[in-house]
Amino acid sequence: MIASIGFPVIKAERSKLQDMNLENLPFGRIFTDYMLEADYDKGEWKNVEIKPYQPLVMDPSAAVLHYGQAIFEGIKAYKDDQDNAYVFRLYDNFKRFNVSAARMEMPQVPEEIFVEGIKQLIALEKAWIPSMEDHSLYIRPFMFATDEMIGVKPSDKYKFLVILSPTGPYYARPMRIYVEEFYVRAVKGGIGFAKAAGNYAACLHPTEEAKKKGYDQILWTDPVEHKYVQEIGTMNVMFIIGNSVVTPDLEAGTILNGVTRQTVLTLLKERGLTVEERPVNIEELIEAYNAGTLKEVFGTGTAATVSPIKELRYKDFVMTFDIDQWEVMPGVKKTLDDIRSSKTEDKYGWMVKV
Ligand SMILES: *Cc1c(COP(=O)(O)O)cnc(C)c1O
Repeated sequence: MIASIGFPVIKAERSKLQDMNLENLPFGRIFTDYMLEADYDKGEWKNVEIKPYQPLVMDPSAAVLHYGQAIFEGIKAYKDDQDNAYVFRLYDNFKRFNVSAARMEMPQVPEEIFVEGIKQLIALEKAWIPSMEDHSLYIRPFMFATDEMIGVKPSDKYKFLVILSPTGPYYARPMRIYVEEFYVRAVKGGIGFAKAAGNYAACLHPTEEAKKKGYDQILWTDPVEHKYVQEIGTMNVMFIIGNSVVTPDLEAGTILNGVTRQTVLTLLKERGLTVEERPVNIEELIEAYNAGTLKEVFGTGTAATVSPIKELRYKDFVMTFDIDQWEVMPGVKKTLDDIRSSKTEDKYGWMVKV
């Protein structure tokens, strides 16, 4: 098998790492020395190689530039005290990538390329994983259509790439959230569950409008009644009501099946909370807020991990939360941070050793 031999590596002349301080880097602006690249053509994957990070040459008629057949993933790698490298829940992201691919009529990327390729790339770039607290190496796999032809049809050719970006602590600033009532992100039967590039382009304008009103992000709602909440930006949303954690279910296919969502639900169950995955109506949240039982509201995602929400606005009704009084979210965030930094036993086998 190719995986046991490893993919060919074209060596970089020198490492940029020697000019770099990995402390407190801004998210997503610095990239490591190498990237993984693979081509798909006529039903097969080929030219899998690891090469110096560099610009791509594309034909102006490349299908992705016109019709947006593009998907991506976001994963993080960590290092322990013994300098071992780990990727958090790599197989879950691998599976989700191929779910996105199927919805966008793109080919499946085999495990040998996605999982083994990432492991080989991380092993090569291990020195780029920052060892400071709350730092990590962000992994960005992505795939896009490269057919050189401007007809609307599934492309015959694709490129799969993996790039890496060292990242500092993502300061989870308490968020002010605007519950959206006009624009929609996802509908039943649509592509809300796919990590497809177009989903993010479509959210930019509504989010900028919310920012002009003084909010950080939008809480998306269902397209029919604008009452059932979906998710926030690149985060799933959770509500602690009494001794339950209530979060939108995945049934309608309108939200991303977040790996952090699954992780946090598991950890909350472990802490004795009842997990309720079901439709969540904004009216129910307001009632719970008025009754004093809606205690904590937060978002979950790979980039920010767990982010508290200090204000939630629906029409003229404003819910505010005193984050300093919270116990559940800070506790679960700490457990997750400790698993990722190998301070706590990884009993679920989430840390995939490279
Ligand atoms: C990536 C993403 C999430 C979070 O998923 P994780 O697997 O936890 O990183 C949530 N919502 C959207 C829209 C996303 O793109």
